[in-house]
Amino acid sequence: QQEIYLAKRPTGLPTMEDFNFVERPIPTLKDKEVLIRTLYVSVDPYMRGRMQDAKSYIPPFKLDEVIVGGVVGEVSKSNSDAFQPGDVVVGNLNWAEYTAAMEKDIRKIDPSIAPITTHLGILGMPGLTAYFGLLDIGKPQKGETVVVSGAAGAVGSIVGQIAKMKGAKVVGIAGSDEKVDYLKSELGFDEAVNYKNDSFQQDLENAASDGVDIYFDNVGGEVTDAVFRLLNKHARIPLCGAISSYNKEGQDVGPRLQSAMIKTSALMKGFTVGDYSADFGTAAADLGKWLAEGKLKYNETIVEGFENIPNAFLGLFEGTNLGKQLVKVADP
Ligand code: NDP
Repeated sequence: QQEIYLAKRPTGLPTMEDFNFVERPIPTLKDKEVLIRTLYVSVDPYMRGRMQDAKSYIPPFKLDEVIVGGVVGEVSKSNSDAFQPGDVVVGNLNWAEYTAAMEKDIRKIDPSIAPITTHLGILGMPGLTAYFGLLDIGKPQKGETVVVSGAAGAVGSIVGQIAKMKGAKVVGIAGSDEKVDYLKSELGFDEAVNYKNDSFQQDLENAASDGVDIYFDNVGGEVTDAVFRLLNKHARIPLCGAISSYNKEGQDVGPRLQSAMIKTSALMKGFTVGDYSADFGTAAADLGKWLAEGKLKYNETIVEGFENIPNAFLGLFEGTNLGKQLVKVADP
């Protein structure tokens, strides 16, 4: 079976040279361990941070060791009373065709309730991130304007839809006209703008014609500068991600328009979804209910083949994904 190791710490945008495909034996199981056959792998922007040797909320990946991320898989052998062969589980598992995991590190999922891939997207980490960042920090009120960057991605697409449910006017920012159309015609965003157009600042001003009450920031950099120029009094800014800087060497500068925050008495708060782990159950129940009621929609971009995991990851920085980027490794 194949595993993917971090071969080098990337400088700038990672390349295929930073990854190593290694042939390893299928692991043998210790007590309370479960052997999981990988079905779907999630590639996520935060994993870029773990490739650097830098202190963060989560330790760096080690060189010449297997990369770990969100995986949905099927139990193929079990030394745990809690799991049977055939169970579908989710967890932070190896970029490998098979992983041996401790029973406490995986969670059983019910394939009859929602497609199993949703546990890596709308019902998983990205959905929870959208939920807590928007509702706990953003606190959208009826009639307010919510702007979200990275709007057509896993987190952003859910942020906008929850904001709509709360009665806000929603403006999405994304990197292609196709994504802009999707946000408006499929997800019900009131407005959406393409940040790659020369007219972006003006387009955003037209779209957010009453100013910005909540800015859910997934990208940072110049996109964020453009939004800061439009902040309303007492704006709230859940600071979720800064993907525009993840491949920059050295420190990015900013926020560059902090005076906009002083003038508007705005509140900006960074967070990681793990801050809210005590409340994951309630949030997952809400997200599941809204999904079942048809109030939330989602899209997945699924690449096939274990060998395509690194490429799918790199695609996040080019915006090749619409909604959640996944890799299908094997059939259930
Ligand atoms: P996405 O599904 O949104 O994929 C990343 C998207 O980012 C791409 O599709 C691309 O869309 C956009 N992008 C890439 N490069 C740039 C750039 N230079 N400037 C602007 N946009 C860019 O990923 P996720 O939804 O999983 O994550 C979104 C953000 O949320 C990330 O920053 C991530 O790190 C963060 N995050 C934070 C968490 C937390 O706990 N705080 C948890 C989960 C995610 P486009 O075509 O529009 O450019």
